[in-house]
Order: sequence, then C-alpha cells, then structure tokens
Amino acid sequence: MTAKMLSGKPIADAIKAEIAAEVSDMREIHGFAPCLAVVRVGDDPASAVYVGNKVKTSEEIGLVSIQHHLPAETDDPELLQVVDELNNNEDVDGILVQLPLPARINDNAILESIRPEKDVDGFHPVNVGRLAQGRASLAPCTPAGVIEMLKRSEIEIAGKHAVIIGRSNIVGKPMAMLLLQENATVTICHSRTHDLASIAMEADILVAAIGRPGFVTGEHIKDGAVVVDVGINKVSSADDAAQFFQGEELEKRLRTISNRGFTLVGDVKPHDAIERASAYTPVPGGVGLLTIAMLMRNTLEAAKQRRRIEL
Ligand code: NAD
Repeated sequence: MTAKMLSGKPIADAIKAEIAAEVSDMREIHGFAPCLAVVRVGDDPASAVYVGNKVKTSEEIGLVSIQHHLPAETDDPELLQVVDELNNNEDVDGILVQLPLPARINDNAILESIRPEKDVDGFHPVNVGRLAQGRASLAPCTPAGVIEMLKRSEIEIAGKHAVIIGRSNIVGKPMAMLLLQENATVTICHSRTHDLASIAMEADILVAAIGRPGFVTGEHIKDGAVVVDVGINKVSSADDAAQFFQGEELEKRLRTISNRGFTLVGDVKPHDAIERASAYTPVPGGVGLLTIAMLMRNTLEAAKQRRRIEL
C-alpha cells in the first residue's frame, strides 16, 4: 500500500480563509475585530519565531494583535500583572503566554491566571475539564488541528481504534479527549507502556506525539492505518538524515542541513508510513501547519462567545 500524503497547507489555508471572512463580517456588522494578545518572556529563539508567526498570521486574517515582550528576568508577580491587565482589558479576546517560560517561573500559576474565556491555548484547568466532560470548550490547538485534518480529509473517526503515543497536557491527553468526542475507541501509550509496538499495531488511527525522531517504524503500523505524525524534531547530521530520507528528498534535506544547520523530522519513519499506511501526515508540511490556524479559530470563537455575537 502507498499512503496518501495528507498535506496541511491547503487545509490550513482553507481554515484561515473561513476565519478571515468571519472577521471581515464582524468588522462590518459590529465595528471591531477579535484581538489576540501574545506574551513572550526572555529571548528563546524558537519562541521568537513561533510568536512572530502567530502575530503575522493574526494580521493576515484581520485580527487585532497585541504583543508583550518581557525581559528574561521577569518574575511571577510581574508576569501575573501583565496577564491581569489583559484579563481586564475588554478589547482583548484571547491571551496566549508563549511556552516554555524561564525555569524560575511557575507555568501552572501563570496559565491558571488567564481568564478561561480568553484562554485560546486551551490549557486552563476549566477548559481542560470542559473538554474532558465533552462540553464545548477552547481546545488545545495542535490536537484540534489533527481532528480538523482528519475530518477535512474525509477520514472516518467514529468507531475506529485510535492509539496515541504520548500523554502530555499539550498534545497527548487533549488528543485523546477530542478523539473520544468523535466517538473513537481510544488508547494512550507512553514511556511506561509495555509492548507498545503491539498496541500501536492495532490502531486504525495512530497519532505519534513523542518528540523522538523516527520512533514509529513499520513494526508499529498496521497495514492501511492512518498515521498522524505530530512530532517535530531537529536532525543535524547527514547520517541521521539518511535514516529518514532517500534520493532527491535526502539531497534536499542535506542542503537544508548545510544552510540552516538542521532539518526537521517527525516521530515516524516516513518510508515505513508510506509503505504501510493508507494516509500519512508528513513532517514538515503536515499537522504542524494547522496549529496556528486553530489558534486563530479559538480567538474568533472566544470573541464571539465573550461578546455574545452571532454571525
Ligand atoms: P512531551 O515531551 O511533553 O511529551 C512526550 C510524551 O511522549 C510523554 O507523554 C512521554 O510519556 C511520551 N514518550 C517519551 N518517550 C517515550 C517512549 N520511549 N515510549 C513511549 N512514549 C514516550 O512532548 P509534547 O509537548 O507532547 O510534544 C510531542 C512532540 O510533538 C514533540 O516533538 C513536539 O515538538 C511536537 N509538537 C508539535 C506541535 C505542532 O505541530 N505545532 C505542537 C506541540 C508539540
């Protein structure tokens, strides 16, 4: 079997176009656009890129965007004060505090200080609880993007056995809740799971969210399974890249390594997925592209709910 490649770009573009149309209606009918506030602490280069992409996408689709960049020495009370001001700012619909925060800062205290109705990352315990109860909530963007990718690719979820590898609060656990809401039968595997390969081998839908390059191989993939690769890992040696790619793709990746110092790979060995799966989301170019689109959608939803607007 040769897997159908599920590309994230056309789906992310379609979602962003739908949001842009609603935002434009909102401006026309109600005289305002949803506002997303992004808070970054310190100078982590990856965070700077992520925040830059979020701000750029917000502006492209017509959202109002506010940025707070605080110095690395910021302490909990100072950051809490910034969040508090945004919580109380009636013009702000969504608040996102970019993770990771400097080690000294208490992440949980900060995330819990965001008003749940403005929590567009979906990490506040109130939103996590609502998600677990199967109620409408602001759901974490990466797993919500996976659901959107599956639905828009016309992959049936109801009744299917979904196996998720990874149990983080950001991806694995909310992924399980969202798949359950879609009536899948869900199994979560993690670092202490015994005989993980044979459990993965039973999956109709296999989601890899581990953070280990090429962890998922042919021995984890049932013939005809749908394989969703959420992992984003950096590989910087030619030998490592050769474990993932061949031919022209390998040459392209080697050029990327010599230009940027690394290339991105997922948690799944691409060749094995392509050989065994019926559909496969590659890295890069797969579900990763949907995360920002879902953040935009959460911001729009947060604005509609808080301002009680129907379009
Ligand atoms: P995490 O480190 O918080 O969690 C990793 C999970 O994998 C843990 O639950 C752990 O139990 C499991 N795990 C680790 N080693 C394992 C092993 N040997 N066997 C079985 N399970 C094992 O990571 P995360 O935040 O959930 O992210 C996972 C991956 O997804 C990373 O590569 C990350 O970069 C990527 N990610 C992508 C996006 C995106 O596409 N936008 C967003 C978030 C995370």
